[in-house]
Amino acid sequence: MKILFSSTMTAVLFAAGSFLSPLHSAAQSSFDAQFINYPTYSGDDLELIVDNSGTHFRLWSPKAQEARVNIYTNGHTGSPSQVLDMKLDPATGTWTASVPEKLYGMFYTFQIKWNGEWNNETPGVWAKAVGINGKRAAIIDLAKTDPDGWNKDKGPDVSNFSDVIVYEMHHRDMSMHPSSGIANKGKFLALTEDGTVSPLGDKTGIDHLKELGITHVHILPSYDYNSVDEMNLQQNTYNWGYDPQNYNSPEGSYSTNPSDPSTRIREMKEMVKALHDAGIGVIMDVVYNHTAENDGSNFELTAPGYYHRHWDDGKYSDASGCGNETASDLKQMQDFIINSTKYWAEEYHIDGFRFDLMAIHDTETMNKVASELKKINPSIFVYGEGWTAGDSPLAIEKRALKENVSKMKNIAVFSDDLRDAVKGHYSNASDRGFATGKPGNEETVKIGIVAATSHPQVDYSKGNNSKFAYALSPEMIVNYVSCHDDLTLTDKLRKSMEGEPEQNMLEAAKLAQTIVFTSQGTPFMFAGEEIFRDKQGVHNSYKSPDSINAINWENKAKYRGQFDYYKELIALRKAHPAFRMTSADDIAKHLVFDKIDSSKTPNLISYSLKDNANGDYWKEIKVVFNGASQPQTVNMPKGKWLIVAKDGKIAHDGSLGVSSGGKIILAPYSALILARE
Ligand code: CA
Repeated sequence: MKILFSSTMTAVLFAAGSFLSPLHSAAQSSFDAQFINYPTYSGDDLELIVDNSGTHFRLWSPKAQEARVNIYTNGHTGSPSQVLDMKLDPATGTWTASVPEKLYGMFYTFQIKWNGEWNNETPGVWAKAVGINGKRAAIIDLAKTDPDGWNKDKGPDVSNFSDVIVYEMHHRDMSMHPSSGIANKGKFLALTEDGTVSPLGDKTGIDHLKELGITHVHILPSYDYNSVDEMNLQQNTYNWGYDPQNYNSPEGSYSTNPSDPSTRIREMKEMVKALHDAGIGVIMDVVYNHTAENDGSNFELTAPGYYHRHWDDGKYSDASGCGNETASDLKQMQDFIINSTKYWAEEYHIDGFRFDLMAIHDTETMNKVASELKKINPSIFVYGEGWTAGDSPLAIEKRALKENVSKMKNIAVFSDDLRDAVKGHYSNASDRGFATGKPGNEETVKIGIVAATSHPQVDYSKGNNSKFAYALSPEMIVNYVSCHDDLTLTDKLRKSMEGEPEQNMLEAAKLAQTIVFTSQGTPFMFAGEEIFRDKQGVHNSYKSPDSINAINWENKAKYRGQFDYYKELIALRKAHPAFRMTSADDIAKHLVFDKIDSSKTPNLISYSLKDNANGDYWKEIKVVFNGASQPQTVNMPKGKWLIVAKDGKIAHDGSLGVSSGGKIILAPYSALILARE
């Protein structure tokens, strides 16, 4: 994410740089220490349940002076039809009220008395259904939102997370452009439409995803967020959605009727089911690290002070760069994150969670999240940004940082190492990387190739970002060269390779993604890069119009060669377990770099995947990258090699022919992959 600035910058500012800082050795500020002994409550009946004995409310707010529920017949206007006084249970810090009727179809808000005054109304922190713009919670029968066949719906089974291929997308990016051929533009339902094509007849939407071969989509925030006015959808306001309002209800602007609380829920489930029916998993981007508003957030309105972190002087701390940060190190907040992700996994069949600015959370919370989710579905994939966007009162050794990933079982972090080394620095548009001819990044690319695990041939002291092997297993690493943040790969290449012919940029893009998709770890790509999608040079498009953000599907015909290459690259990875090893030991044993003196021969990396790595039927795979702007020559062992990739072409079925080894010239910005049985 980022609203104020790109979150990716923080890998450098607040991870590597301050890792050994002696500051902040305490877990909490002196201000937040007052909350440690609050009574907590982790029952699954928080805020609302409806059963045969009626409608029951239970609000957690240990220090409120009074609490009440306002019942409404409408989701956003009119005065309450009924006001219920609540009673405190001091042992759990919860306030309760009940009525004997099932109040389906009604709406409610909570209010607490604080310092002698009634706070503003809030739908609470656990609203599973909300009215338009999320100001009031709705009482609905969730079972009635299930699409046909929902009880049999299931995402793909994943035995190893290195088998996952992530495709990061925003709902509007995928469908808003007129060329998408999709009827439900910008909606959850867009991905339920079969048979959609561009004006030139190319598959779009879900058919495009099937054709490409990715295993999981990662959808940008899809919980109810703050910035888009659901009452004025004709304005077509765009936002990434990193401004959480109601964590447990879907965003209204992605539904066909935001004023009906059930519609957004049913339509999001229909999207999940359509993707599952296509064999594709659904990963949700979650932003528990901060709230859109400070004092006006649902957290503050229900339990003032508790859910956010503060400095010693009581001011909000701001590790998110968005005005505040949440306090996962406090029990009720930790429970909230765990129970909220469990709810999405169970109610919406979500297959994975991508944690925004994960290092704002503590490692203990993240470990509990992952282990609880595993109990629901062992195929759930949890990963996140192992950095923060500002300093935090949370002790550095407790933060879920990239550098602390070894303390987190079953959680992966993004590798900014490979990202910046391959394409050039994310914030310096003109900076080039390994794949675009800049020398000096070879060792950092190798860190990415071995998924930041310990390897006898990788010298971590030469790493640009990380100086030690921080991952214990390739399943702890997500490799990528671009995402929604910063310049798209296309824009980055256009800026950094200015003056060169476009064909060079297309070749560099293919090389960059070949490095990602042949590396150990989990590969991740940004939607549309397979058809050379750009954002007209806008690096922080979080609220840019659709004219910047939407994917132009006519690119699929224009850049056919690009799409075909990506598709085959994905097929190669899926067909060959050698690229998907599951342990650091296997990588150290089976992945052997060829000796190349980078000071004399820069922008050249060559390695072998040996001895039927990870059960591959290919005995040996040679992978060579030439990131230079000139051809480079390598000397391959003699023998009969299948040509898998050469000079910007790729095919794993033998259609590129065979090579007898010896001297082979690599075209500029290209990969060479050879294999023998
Ligand atoms: Ca909203």
